[in-house]
Amino acid sequence: MKLVSMALSGFKSFARPTKLFFADGITAIIGPNGGGKSNIVDAIRWVFGEQSMKQLRAEEKYDVIFAGSSKIPAATSAYVELSFENEDEKLVVSRLLTSDGKNQYMLNGEVVRLKDIHEKFMGTGIGKEFYSIAGQGQIERIVNASPEELRLLLEEAAGTAFYRERKKESLARLEIVNNNLARVQDILYELD
Ligand code: ATP
Repeated sequence: MKLVSMALSGFKSFARPTKLFFADGITAIIGPNGGGKSNIVDAIRWVFGEQSMKQLRAEEKYDVIFAGSSKIPAATSAYVELSFENEDEKLVVSRLLTSDGKNQYMLNGEVVRLKDIHEKFMGTGIGKEFYSIAGQGQIERIVNASPEELRLLLEEAAGTAFYRERKKESLARLEIVNNNLARVQDILYELD
C-alpha cells in the first residue's frame, strides 16, 4: 500500500487547499524551519485518529485548525485526504473537523467509523502508531522495546494483527453470551 497523494485544507499551517503528490521512490520534503514539514506528518497521524495531543504537537483538539495570520483569516475547519494505492485497490481516506464540533471520517467517499478505517488498514503497517511513520525517537523506542511491544510490531508487519483484534472482539462477545447463559440457567433452576 503506497501513499500517492495528500490534500490538506485548513490543517495547521496549510490555510489554503494544498495537494502533494508522492512519486515512486523516495520523496524528501525540504523547507525553512517552521515551514510546515512536520505538519505534513501530523496530518497523516490525524487522519488515522491520533488522539495524543503530544503526538500532534497541539494543546487541544481544535488546535489543528488553521488559526489565522496577518493575511489570512482563521479557518473554520481542517480537512486532510490521503490517497493510497496498491496493485488492485485504491483507497481514499479523509478526516474533517469543524470548529463547531463536527468530526467526520470518510473512506472512499462514505462516512465511516474510525474503527472501519483501522480495520481496512490493519496489517499494512499504515496507521497512527505503526512502523510506517517513524517519528523522532521512534527507532530508539523500537531498540528498547519490551518483547511484548516487539511482538505487536511483528504481528502488524506479518499482517496477523487484524486476526488478533477479531479474536479479542469474539472473546468479549463469547463472555457476554456465557454470562447470559448462566443467567438463563439460574432462571431455569428457579423455575424447576
Ligand atoms: P522544523 O524544520 O523547525 O522542524 P517544520 O518545517 O517541521 O519546522 P512545522 O513544525 O511543521 O515546521 O510547522 C510549524 C509551524 O506551523 C509554526 O509556524 C506554527 O505556527 C504553524 N502552525 C501550527 N499549528 C497551526 C495552526 N493551527 N494555525 C496556523 N499555524 C499553525
